[in-house]
Amino acid sequence: VDSVDSQDDPLGHSFKRVNSLSVTLKEWDIPYEQLQIGDPIGTGRFGTVYRGQWHGDVAIKMLHMDPDTDNQAQLSAFKLEVAMLRKTRHENLVLFMGACMKPPHLAIVTSLCKGHSLYTYIHVRKEKFLMNKIIIIAQQVAQGMGYLHAKGIIHKDLKTKNIFIDKDKVVISDFGLFNVTKLCHFNRRTDELQIPPGWLCYLSPEIIRSLQAGSTYGKSDLPFTEKSDVYAFGTVWYELLTGEWPFKNFPPECIIWKVGRGVKQSLGNIVGSRDVKDVLIMCWSFHNEDRPKFSQILKAIYRLPKKPFQRSPSHPISLSRSADP
Ligand code: ATP
Repeated sequence: VDSVDSQDDPLGHSFKRVNSLSVTLKEWDIPYEQLQIGDPIGTGRFGTVYRGQWHGDVAIKMLHMDPDTDNQAQLSAFKLEVAMLRKTRHENLVLFMGACMKPPHLAIVTSLCKGHSLYTYIHVRKEKFLMNKIIIIAQQVAQGMGYLHAKGIIHKDLKTKNIFIDKDKVVISDFGLFNVTKLCHFNRRTDELQIPPGWLCYLSPEIIRSLQAGSTYGKSDLPFTEKSDVYAFGTVWYELLTGEWPFKNFPPECIIWKVGRGVKQSLGNIVGSRDVKDVLIMCWSFHNEDRPKFSQILKAIYRLPKKPFQRSPSHPISLSRSADP
């Protein structure tokens, strides 16, 4: 962080800026020794998440550091992300609590989501949601995303794996970490385009078109924008409605070809009104300027017809058809 800031400031104000950022970051620094690390919850592309204790239950995401990459560069990128994460306070975003910033232990500490991810509900448990519940979930995701964008933060990795349902609340996680990750474990030289499973269908055409062989998914500067987040939201909406990913069963090369040329998943398997499909059509627009903002998506979702439903006192919002009385 220090070197980035001091080089970037042409007016010689770098010293002050560096100092103030370091002071602010200190408030969010969690000494690694203070964490009680419990069982691993799972390992993703960029790190392993552990259950832990730090003034109560927390989730600890330990980032895999790449031994071949400059430590200082990784640390600087990491600190910039932490500086961004500390600005996030919204009930539909996972609570950022602090970070371990001393290599080799780079970790992000957040609230522990005790429910399941939307991915687990949809693709593992194969639960079918009622329309009212789809609307409630989508509204909360759109609210959280609208807030992130208002703060100038692009998620870059919105997907059902990063959306948790904790009791009756939807919580988005993993926002903005993409920049750090390109400096971490997967920054490898290779002649092949590395595509993790389940990633492509969230990528907008402009991102698909800039994927190149030899650049892993984090390495090249992919053109993420607010509108690419909106495209990813469209895919989440499609998964909620159908229980499937778009272009299911198609090989990656075929998806790249189709999306890159503006071919869309057919909407024939969506049971719902025209308005429901319109949300998808808007979010999946080929040109990013034609995609709506989250404030417009929220309005469109609010307008969708809702059926009156009863809340059970013991289950404030039961989420799936199978959980309904
Ligand atoms: P990817 O690397 O592609 O994003 P992922 O989402 O599975 O995949 P991680 O974000 O590293 O990877 O998450 C690893 C596991 O930890 C997942 O099972 C995820 O559901 C879980 N997890 C992540 N954050 C939390 C959290 N705050 N509370 C509870 N579980 C979490």
